[in-house]
Amino acid sequence: MKTYWTNFHSHTYYCDGKSSLEDHVIAAIDQNVKSYGFSSHSPVPFPTTWNMKKEKLENYLQDANLLIEKYKGQIQLYKSLEVDFIPQKSGPHQYPQLDYTVGSVHFVDQYEDGTYWEIDNTKTIFRKGLKEIFHDDIQAAIQKYIDLNVEMITTDKPDVLGHLDKIKMHNHTEKLFSEEDNWYQKIMMAYVEEIEKSGVIVEVNTRGLYKGWADDLYPSPWLLKELIQRNIPIVLNSDSHVPHEITKKFSDTAKMLQQLGLKKLYAFWNNEWQPFDFNEDGLYLPNA
Ligand SMILES: [Zn+2]
Ligand SMILES: [Zn+2]
Repeated sequence: MKTYWTNFHSHTYYCDGKSSLEDHVIAAIDQNVKSYGFSSHSPVPFPTTWNMKKEKLENYLQDANLLIEKYKGQIQLYKSLEVDFIPQKSGPHQYPQLDYTVGSVHFVDQYEDGTYWEIDNTKTIFRKGLKEIFHDDIQAAIQKYIDLNVEMITTDKPDVLGHLDKIKMHNHTEKLFSEEDNWYQKIMMAYVEEIEKSGVIVEVNTRGLYKGWADDLYPSPWLLKELIQRNIPIVLNSDSHVPHEITKKFSDTAKMLQQLGLKKLYAFWNNEWQPFDFNEDGLYLPNA
């Protein structure tokens, strides 16, 4: 049986990605992808440089619907959003019209004037929030990030939990903490317990790695090991923002996941999440 890739976390020019939806579809087909989901950053009720504008949502969904029909038989395409979880302001439950949702936390807390602290923007922005909101207490900032993720998966569960340890991103250029620290491992293990209880699918996100923004995958291999041991469902995603990123680092990562003991990768296939055998060249999708 032949193998194929899938990707369910991707951006386009409707948010901060580059190129049209169709350019991404053409590139996906070219990269041996058989199931693909559009997941632009959801609109949020305040201005940002990277979320989709609310008034563009209808066009985005129409574009996706046209392509779903046009490329039928070549590739399965699905409508989604990477929904920001912000309590009382934004969450996955707001989008019943989507095929599935990716839920992510990018906004961790607010400054005194009410503006939100983005944790995956520049180092300078990270440093500013850490200082002004958390008085440079990295442990408190990480705890807050995890609390929000847990609140999301327990009260407004997405299908897929996006980059579950993205908060470690700025550790790459400046050591803010060690993942071997006792307090960090304790926080993360409690998080893994909640993930297991919730039944949410966890993504292995290759973006930090191929962009050189993180030392490792999201989540880190030691966490992946825990997830695999507990049989938590895992999907491989690239979080692509340009067409050539769609399957970046997939082969190396699939190989590593096998070495860590993972037997099946999840994919949205024929309109439902299902587990599939895989190897370093892709997933065995029946009747693809
Ligand atoms: Zn994200
Ligand atoms: Zn993303």
